[in-house]
Amino acid sequence: MTVKVDVQMFPLFINGKWEPASSQETFDVYNPADGKLVAKVAKGTVADVDRAVQAARDAFDKSDWKDMNPKDRANVLYAISYQIAEHAEELAYLEAISSGGTVRRIGQSDILQMVDLFQTLANFTRGYPFSETLPVPPFPGPAHNFIWREPIGVCAAITPWNLPMVIATWKIAPALAMGNTVVIKPASYTPLSTLRLAELISNVVPPGVINVVTGPGAEIGEALVRHPKVDKVAFTGSTEVGRRIMGLAADTIKKTTLELGGKSPNIILEDADLNIALPGSLFGVFLHSGQLCESGTRLFVPDKLHDQVVAGLVALASKLKLGNPLDPATDVGPIISKKQKESVLSYIEAGKLEGATLVCGGKEVKVPGCEEGHYIEPTIFTNVTNDMKIAQEEIFGPVLSVIRYSDVDEAIRMANDTIYGLAAGIWTRDVNKAYDVARKLQAGVVWINDWHMLRSDAPFGGYKQSGIGREMGKQSLDAYTQTKHVHTSMSPELERKNWYGILFGQN
Ligand code: NAD
Repeated sequence: MTVKVDVQMFPLFINGKWEPASSQETFDVYNPADGKLVAKVAKGTVADVDRAVQAARDAFDKSDWKDMNPKDRANVLYAISYQIAEHAEELAYLEAISSGGTVRRIGQSDILQMVDLFQTLANFTRGYPFSETLPVPPFPGPAHNFIWREPIGVCAAITPWNLPMVIATWKIAPALAMGNTVVIKPASYTPLSTLRLAELISNVVPPGVINVVTGPGAEIGEALVRHPKVDKVAFTGSTEVGRRIMGLAADTIKKTTLELGGKSPNIILEDADLNIALPGSLFGVFLHSGQLCESGTRLFVPDKLHDQVVAGLVALASKLKLGNPLDPATDVGPIISKKQKESVLSYIEAGKLEGATLVCGGKEVKVPGCEEGHYIEPTIFTNVTNDMKIAQEEIFGPVLSVIRYSDVDEAIRMANDTIYGLAAGIWTRDVNKAYDVARKLQAGVVWINDWHMLRSDAPFGGYKQSGIGREMGKQSLDAYTQTKHVHTSMSPELERKNWYGILFGQN
């Protein structure tokens, strides 16, 4: 990477301009890889939320942004994708130094996904049914009927620290595609890439269409969710905060989409090809140190294959290289913070106390040159039962629980025995068997012989307490519109409107 490592100052981004927080205060952002200060960021207040929402409100109500034709809007989305591609290195750097994601992953996957999402939604926007004509109904009489799909208005986006840029685009791209305006509140560990992304987007959209307010979730996030001039909330984060947001949004009946936590089951069937199932399962759980919501954290293994699978997993996991995410040779980067590291270590202790067997990792690591960073070895537990805390609660760290099963129905029952339903996976050589299992799994996405394969044109979201609504795909466009039914009577003469007799009787 060639970008400078100086401590940077990031104000709020409101109405197309950088603005200090009304409090004039800032908060510090540290690199989780080495504990060094990398940025000072404006600590927004409720007054700043008001300013940002008003800017977004005015851009929606007073400019012609919402009325732009679909072809021009698709061109805007393409222009944003080019901005991202042109500034890929800088964005990847900002993301890596704050989230701890490896530049290998961000460069080879995240940036490409973001570019692809804007382009895919641009293509969908061109053909989107903004207006549909209904057939003439038999009752109440001849009429033209349209269904119009219109933007919702001001959308608040609240995002987590694990994949800050990618998840921001899951909200920004469909919101802009449908003519809405956005106020985004990134997580306080990782606001940098979102702020720069908003500035890049503002190069091609009118002022006020995209705004960023940074600051504490309980203050800034809640102020956005409560705000009477905000029409929709799109939240990604923990199920716990998701519950709170759903409650707060109820006061103003805001349209709400929630992408929440997971404890995703991964089932190896007896006929699986272990040459792909083993690296695939580790890819599914240790990518980004296990800090991905759809990580496959519970691995169900048939009795017959158990020892072979465990030996293979341990051999592969022990080879993973922990290191500085800016080093392209690094496989696994740090945990986001000291607090999160301690939380993950406490789950590892809980696993041991509950009687699970630690067969790999389990300890904090001091990476040379990054001694103040927060690293944990890729960790594997065997002898886990599905009722243990490590099998039921989202750890959000590099911890895999291996759970034995004797028949597939038992594996499916345990796989579904969780409050979550985000993702699931199956490894088998028999695709018909895979479909049968996939139908029975309660999850928003099921991967067969793969993991983490999210696509811009496919919806992503959770069953059960993993969320409400879908992001990406055509479905995400629906989530940023509201429908209006317009009826035009084709029978203007009073005598033909015999249905008025329902009220007027004999008169
Ligand atoms: P979090 O719930 O603690 O915070 C998410 C965001 O909400 C942050 O911006 C935070 O500042 C804000 N926030 C916190 N309290 C708030 C409140 N009371 N009102 C409004 N906003 C508030 O989550 P996190 O720790 O940043 O991220 C990890 C979690 O996110 C995990 O549970 C993970 O599974 C989930 N996640 C889900 C998906 C998905 O698509 N389903 C994707 C990534 C992460």
